Amino acid sequence: MKLATFSHGGRTRIGVVQGEEIVDLAGAAPELPMETIALLAAGSGALAAAERAAARPGPRIPLAEVHLEAPLRRPAKLLAVGLNYAEHAAEMGRERPGVPIVFNKQTSCIVGPWDPVHLPRVSRALDYEGELAFVIGRRCRHVPRDRAAEVIAGYTVMNDVSVRDWQGRSPTMTMGKSFDTHGPMGPWLVIGDEVADPHGLGLRTWVNGELRQDSNTKDLIFDCFALVEHLSTAFTLEPGDVVSTGTPAGVAVGRKPPPWLVAGDVVRIEIEGIGQIENPVIDEPDTALL
Ligand code: ZN
Repeated sequence: MKLATFSHGGRTRIGVVQGEEIVDLAGAAPELPMETIALLAAGSGALAAAERAAARPGPRIPLAEVHLEAPLRRPAKLLAVGLNYAEHAAEMGRERPGVPIVFNKQTSCIVGPWDPVHLPRVSRALDYEGELAFVIGRRCRHVPRDRAAEVIAGYTVMNDVSVRDWQGRSPTMTMGKSFDTHGPMGPWLVIGDEVADPHGLGLRTWVNGELRQDSNTKDLIFDCFALVEHLSTAFTLEPGDVVSTGTPAGVAVGRKPPPWLVAGDVVRIEIEGIGQIENPVIDEPDTALL
């Protein structure tokens, strides 16, 4: 099941994507929560009810008529992992890590699969990172690797957009990884039972149609299940928590000279069996709020 969050007719809710159409769960299953995290928190029975409702005959909305939003708009956690592909670690001039390098992106950076990414006024060093992200389906702690699949609700595509000069001048990376709009995600959440093996998925990134990243999640150093075990050793994972698993080689900062993203560029990331996101880069508009 592909679970999407979408806006249509001035309202945002969730639906199930079937081919080029979407089943509006607000109409097909009004008893269910109309928001992804609440639906996940309601348990596997609620997900099964959504799937049954979507399978019944009923109205569908053409995907082309809706605006797809990020599948999760404000998760409690948005974690990411650095240097989690050996070739990417090498292009960054770094050693293969012995433990996962976990960092936070602020959840306020999340935007939808087709939304614009801002080129910040304060930097020119804007970079893309195509990544597989997984989403936690239930509250858990101390999950052994061999049971991690049970707590993963599903998978989605993430661009871990990075402002390299801001990232590099502080050891925590938080500032350079968290600019507004720097967390495009989507196009939907593919529920885990539909992904036979999350560690065998082709992952490609294009900038203006030029292939920049061409890898496979089989090359993850710490795979999704190892990350669940590692993270849940320290803290409770909750429904909707997002973990972006790291990017393969081919980012701009790894090239000489770096082909930084500029306004007018379009970044497309595709993961086999999950879907694709495509985000145009624009100059940061007047975003002052005070
Ligand atoms: Zn990343």
